[in-house]
Amino acid sequence: MYRPTLGIIGGGQLGSLLADAAKKIGIKTVILSDDINAPGKNFSSSFIYGNYDDQVIIDEFINSVDLVTYEFENIPFSILKKIDEKKTVLPKPEVNNLIQNRLTEKDFLNKINIQTTKYTSINNIDELKENKNLIPGLLKTTTLGYDGKGQYKINKFEDLNNNINFNKKYILEKLVNLKKEISVVITRFGHQKFEMYEPIENVHEDQILKHSKVPAEISEKIREKAVNWSTLIAEELDYIGTLCVEFFIDKNDNLYVNEIAPRVHNSGHLTINSHNISQFENHIRAVCGLEKIQTKKMFNAKMINIIGDEISFYRKKIYKNNEFFFDYLKKDIKNKRKMGHLTIINK
Ligand code: ADP
Ligand code: MG
Repeated sequence: MYRPTLGIIGGGQLGSLLADAAKKIGIKTVILSDDINAPGKNFSSSFIYGNYDDQVIIDEFINSVDLVTYEFENIPFSILKKIDEKKTVLPKPEVNNLIQNRLTEKDFLNKINIQTTKYTSINNIDELKENKNLIPGLLKTTTLGYDGKGQYKINKFEDLNNNINFNKKYILEKLVNLKKEISVVITRFGHQKFEMYEPIENVHEDQILKHSKVPAEISEKIREKAVNWSTLIAEELDYIGTLCVEFFIDKNDNLYVNEIAPRVHNSGHLTINSHNISQFENHIRAVCGLEKIQTKKMFNAKMINIIGDEISFYRKKIYKNNEFFFDYLKKDIKNKRKMGHLTIINK
């Protein structure tokens, strides 16, 4: 059976878990990372260290793989495009380019009649003053943010300080009065060909995901809408691979899409233990053109993210046989850094 060698750009926990899933189905992986200590090198078949804009490194990477995917969205479009000229990059660089910018991402969603919170582009303090109707709101950098980085919460216009660096571009989003957050992880294999996980309920602390669980406690109406919107998004993007749609549910039970992650997602980590096929394996299968296997839930589950120095406790803990501890093997423990996770299945 043909098994391609898959290149993965990025060697964090997502790259590690992708490489691990690939290994289980006989696919070799080459991780390219600009971090010499990237934990992904513990999981991939081989590892290339270097800057993403170093042509010699990129050529070495391209020459050692059959096709390429990526674990994070903050890769310059020009780099993905260059790689794609020689080896297929999936999801397509154009899709990543659209989603990596919070403004073009929300414009796309609204164009296909999917509800988001109200938002506008902000480039200077005067534009902020003109958009008081979006306050309380969140001012976010249009690109390069993750885990709440690059975000300022604005409760009252008077609270604004001068810390905002207007050399960057921003989006101002109206604050949603949150009742709940959910996500849908979906893998698209081609025209109208999907494998999808049921909606996952998520709790964030400090804008970082803390817990996820299935089943989500939501109404049938919300479930149906979330599933339909996710399918529409994947189809409209002509997406290949796994993506995640993050949703907000407000106090009046309105559903909004928060953002799309053009990749596997932290809230889908529980699928490794709750389902017959994980979000990682489905991603590998879709991008490598392997057989699509019907994805089924085996257990309800809950996942806890292990952040910063909490990892020391979990490294020593003794686990029951329904508890699965994942240590990302990151070299340094840092405050607010995702260090591992624990999944507890409900047998
Ligand atoms: P990131 O790219 O860092 O994940 P998000 O835009 O998803 O950024 O924001 C992280 C979290 O912050 C969300 O999951 C949510 O809890 C909170 N948040 C972000 N935007 C809003 C908003 N407009 N209204 C209410 N909560 C928000
Ligand atoms: Mg998010």
